[in-house]
Amino acid sequence: MSDKDLYNELSYSRKNVYEIITDDEKADMFKFCDSYREFLDKGKTERECVAETVKIIEAAGFRPLDGFETLKAGDKVYKINRGKNVFAAVIGTDDIENGMNIVGAHIDSPRLDLKQNPLYESEDMALLKTHYYGGIKKYQWTAIPLAMHGVMFTKEGKKVEINIGESENDPVFCVTDLLPHLAGEQMNKKLANGIEGENLNILFGGIPVGEDVENKVKFGVLKLLNSRYGVTESDFLNAEIEIVPAFKAKNVGIDESFIGSYGQDDRVCAYTTIRGITDIASPKRTAVALLVDKEEIGSCGNTGMLSAYFEMTVAEIVEKIKGSCSVTAYNKVIRNSACLSSDVNAALDPNYASAYEKNNASLAGYGMCVIKYTGARGKSGSSDASAEFMYEVEKIMNDNKVVWQSGELGKVDQGGGGTIAQYVANLNMDVVDCGVPVLSMHAPFEVTAKTDVYMAYKAYTAFYKDR
Ligand code: MN
Ligand code: MN
Repeated sequence: MSDKDLYNELSYSRKNVYEIITDDEKADMFKFCDSYREFLDKGKTERECVAETVKIIEAAGFRPLDGFETLKAGDKVYKINRGKNVFAAVIGTDDIENGMNIVGAHIDSPRLDLKQNPLYESEDMALLKTHYYGGIKKYQWTAIPLAMHGVMFTKEGKKVEINIGESENDPVFCVTDLLPHLAGEQMNKKLANGIEGENLNILFGGIPVGEDVENKVKFGVLKLLNSRYGVTESDFLNAEIEIVPAFKAKNVGIDESFIGSYGQDDRVCAYTTIRGITDIASPKRTAVALLVDKEEIGSCGNTGMLSAYFEMTVAEIVEKIKGSCSVTAYNKVIRNSACLSSDVNAALDPNYASAYEKNNASLAGYGMCVIKYTGARGKSGSSDASAEFMYEVEKIMNDNKVVWQSGELGKVDQGGGGTIAQYVANLNMDVVDCGVPVLSMHAPFEVTAKTDVYMAYKAYTAFYKDR
């Protein structure tokens, strides 16, 4: 063997997915990504992602868990929590005490939420106050078309779904920004302070209506809201209204190699997880797809990963398979389960290369990435997967010809982040982050490479099948 061949055999290097995949796979990949873009357009909130997911899994034969008295191998079930979480499972042929294969993603994304008393009038304009959700660069949310999605209740208790700005003929909304001509003072501020959180106010209306009314424009929009939805201003007090980018998911690049869209963190992993589990007919180990909410604000709340919802659903499944769920049986199920925390990673951005460490950063186009640890300042807040579990996961990827890479979020001490992995690990389960590299993460328009989306789907399917 020549030294060159030996060097290639002994050393590690990554390859671009296009150097590896077949023409058939490439065609399949582009088709898969067309469906993924449709999912992104239909699911712009956690509630909408749940509704779309239910359509996909129902079509694949999954049925509500509540409708089953007992469960047997091959049964496909799902349970929804408060319209914001999905737990979908295919019951395995193996004893569930030997563990489940779980892939968990989150379906909440950074956005602007309306405050509870949002509406006011200023200079003959109606505006809505917001409180941002998750980690955003505030300047990115001004001067772009925004849509309004959410839920309100009338005084009589009728639930009203709000969805304005998505249809071709719908109006959109926006946060206005100061013109450069007058922005001397603003432009000299730090980027973080250039746009203040209290200035992320939505332009909502502008026609004055009525006589002897203090706020005529506010009166005009309230009349419109009342005639269209039957609501009054005080009905905002209990509403959940999310302001999200109004544009659709698009192919990016002249060769259409990328996808640009709002909400790819983490709906890219949610969609690939769901498509993965619908491909599984009769697995050895019970396969679980878990979609959770509130990851972007700390996995808190009764719909976040820290909610007991996950454990309660596992107990219900064990009981329906075995007739009862003893503490011993439950503990064995959890201890023997394995989880891929499917979440995105930062792809190396050539415009900001100095924020990354090239050998360990994930590269767009180089496949699904496995992230051993997250966290910040010395891995703080990370679950740090074991070498044993890393080996197992990597072997499954290699055996199934999944193109994958290792990924770390940025340079040491550059910053950091977390996922649901640490909370899954706290249950006493093996878990590692596995996901898709993203450019412009948390921006209104995030970018992924189609190759990596497709490889994530292949990875989750392989994990369900072979772990
Ligand atoms: Mn995420
Ligand atoms: Mn995120």
